[in-house]
Amino acid sequence: MPNPNQKKNHFLFLSPENCSEKIVISLTESVYSIGRHSDSNIKLYSEAVSRNHATLIRKDVGKDNSSYILIDGDLKGQRSQNGIVVNEKKTIYHQLEDGDIIMFGSSEIKAIYKQENALSEYFPFCDLNSKIQQNNIALSSELTREQLQNTLILSEENLNQNLSQKDIKRLASFPELSPNPIIEFDLNGKIIYSNPAANLCFSELFNEENITNPLIAGLTRNTNQINGELIIREIKIKDKYFDQYIHYLSKQNVIRSYIFDITKRKISEKKLKYQAFHDSLTGIPNREFFYWKLEQYLNNVKTNNEQLAIFFIDIDRFKNINETLNHTTGDKLLENFSYRLVSNLPEDCFLARWGGDEFTVIVPLKDNLPRINQIAQKIINSLKEPFIIKKYTIYVTCSIGVSIYPKDGLEEKTLIKNADIALFRAKQMGKNNCQFYTTQLSGEQMLLFELENSLYNALDNQELFLNFQPQLDLNTNKISALEVLLRWQHPDLGVVSPSKFIPLAEETGLIIPIGEWVLETACLQGKKWQDLGYPKMVIAVNVSVKQFQQDNFIQQVKNILHKTQFNPEYLELEITETILMQNVDKTEIIINELSQLGVKFSLDDFGTGYSSLSYLKRFPFNVVKIDQSFISDLAINEQDQALVSAVITLAKGYKMKVVAEGVETDNQKKLLKQLKCDFIQGWLVSKPFREEDLLAFLNKLIN
Ligand code: C2E
Ligand code: CA
Ligand code: CA
Repeated sequence: MPNPNQKKNHFLFLSPENCSEKIVISLTESVYSIGRHSDSNIKLYSEAVSRNHATLIRKDVGKDNSSYILIDGDLKGQRSQNGIVVNEKKTIYHQLEDGDIIMFGSSEIKAIYKQENALSEYFPFCDLNSKIQQNNIALSSELTREQLQNTLILSEENLNQNLSQKDIKRLASFPELSPNPIIEFDLNGKIIYSNPAANLCFSELFNEENITNPLIAGLTRNTNQINGELIIREIKIKDKYFDQYIHYLSKQNVIRSYIFDITKRKISEKKLKYQAFHDSLTGIPNREFFYWKLEQYLNNVKTNNEQLAIFFIDIDRFKNINETLNHTTGDKLLENFSYRLVSNLPEDCFLARWGGDEFTVIVPLKDNLPRINQIAQKIINSLKEPFIIKKYTIYVTCSIGVSIYPKDGLEEKTLIKNADIALFRAKQMGKNNCQFYTTQLSGEQMLLFELENSLYNALDNQELFLNFQPQLDLNTNKISALEVLLRWQHPDLGVVSPSKFIPLAEETGLIIPIGEWVLETACLQGKKWQDLGYPKMVIAVNVSVKQFQQDNFIQQVKNILHKTQFNPEYLELEITETILMQNVDKTEIIINELSQLGVKFSLDDFGTGYSSLSYLKRFPFNVVKIDQSFISDLAINEQDQALVSAVITLAKGYKMKVVAEGVETDNQKKLLKQLKCDFIQGWLVSKPFREEDLLAFLNKLIN
């Protein structure tokens, strides 16, 4: 039996603003969901609180104690709208400590987390609290230990009241008819009374030597401790779990106990705990579990002065596999990949799925550094055999990044980050290899690494915004179109150019959600300006290769047009030659189908790729954009002049408009006019604008 004096009890004191009442919740379960959702275990009634705002997970600390981890959002990784703040610091993951002050959403709902130590204070207290929570009654004053003690003693004294025969009969039927077992035994462990439910439930136990009977064990010797008090303990008998409420009746010198079967609750708790710490696809431990384990491993190696390695493993080109085959095959591959890792790792290693196609491993080393290469090589070699999934034979390789405690870091976070940096190097070295962490990542590599890491949150953190660059119609001198140019307001690095992060977004697959966001936001803007009465202008949106190649691109554009109610006639999609060349037939279908809706297409950066002018004939482009590299030297380079002139003549023959990009000088504009170019875009007309500056610019033109 665990020493009850050591066990901590956990409470959450909730105090909604403008409300003098306090709600006290005794935390006994292993997982709590907190939020506005009707299924939440702890419901918070405030507009500022999300439906699944936060989650509490019990964490065992040492043998007898536990604490709670507070996570922003739910266990599926869905974050809350307004976040959580602990001790005035915004956080998404926090191990609670006694006295921590938590704000949910805004300052409207405040909670204080408390740990209470002594046994004698807790059970009656907990009981009261759970009632308070259920009935939503508020506890305005705190009950002291003495008050509770007195209540118990008073009720024992009440038993001495003169009761009528009728009363006694009625009272006697209570235990007899109770569906829950009740037993009474003396201080030697001899059973004095057991109700029918107890006889039914524990019939074999009553034949046993009483002292080893789990219902009695440990109680008779500790009577001093429980004298006059109610204690509760959890016991396990065969496969079942019970809460045993034990009450020592000092006058009669007997111990009475009420027993409740809690097996169902325990099983669902275990299931929840399992789900909270394991990845649902592969069944192996998840990221949270990894963090906890790493903490334990580190404590161990610190005391023993040993070394330890962290592996960061990533499947090479998984995104391609996932996109080329379908996602169920991708999932199956991840599952099989994780089995292969499990079967190739020594037993003392700890494997977890970090997320996506990334896995992490803790490798204890003691003093055996060569172990790292042995294990890494074993993993890499194990992938020489292909995976057979359905009808596919799939060959994969992986890259591994390694960091070592204590050389590369002392803390969990540093070690993980450095293993990740090492992985990045492994990828840059051509994949299918293992790299150790070194600080010698070049400035450019470091920047790319930082960018890639923070790009994952850019959309969620609303760090992306749009700029608009006008195109001037040289015949009418009016703005005919606006090109939408994406910008990223990086928290540390300032505004990052799309030429830096679009390639990263392509590589990581993030271009899909980002591209969708750009398109929708651009259409919304266009619609808004039209509704405000600005002259109708085409909104030109850049589309990247991956985005264009996704299976549902046509549907995505249709959905966005429908949702934003933006007239398709004013939407222009800018695509590059690379898109055309990737899959000519597919591209033709997409362009044709969207053209039928009225959507326009322009061929961007014309002249920089390898495509011949014959592409112009095959695809129904509305616009050709001549790349700025041909414009910058236009005045001095006769070849450029000849090419620009040829493109303009040809495009006009196909009834396509020509836009010259990157026009910076009056001289360039004059030459382009002479060459019969109809539209120009560039700093001469204006730099790309933020919305408010654009409107000021347009207003000046109108007035
Ligand atoms: P792009 O489509 O060729 O866009 C024109 C680029 O030239 C823009 O750079 C623009 O700011 C710049 N520019 C405009 N006028 C002048 C000028 O007179 N002189 C010079 N030197 N430059 C000028 P930006 O905004 O940095 O965009 C770079 C590239 O990033 C774009 O090239 C485009 O390929 C890509 N990009 C931008 N936004 C998006 C987007 O939303 N989605 C995708 N997939 N790609 C985007
Ligand atoms: Ca463009
Ligand atoms: Ca361009």
